[in-house]
Amino acid sequence: MLEGTHLMPLEAGLLEILACPACHSPLDDRSADAEPELVCTGADCGLAYPVRDGIPVLLVDEARRPA
Ligand SMILES: [Zn+2]
Repeated sequence: MLEGTHLMPLEAGLLEILACPACHSPLDDRSADAEPELVCTGADCGLAYPVRDGIPVLLVDEARRPA
């Protein structure tokens, strides 16, 4: 099945190949207005990775821990 050529936000295209470096779960785009970030969907993880200049920073040391 072809996906077509419709343009999606950068994160949407990258999400298919990006995984949490800590637990390898898929990442979810939870971009807020000013602070885009990718949130790990792992039940026991949930780290939020920042997106800087449109580039996800998938470093555990840079991730925000869930509250
Ligand atoms: Zn994770």
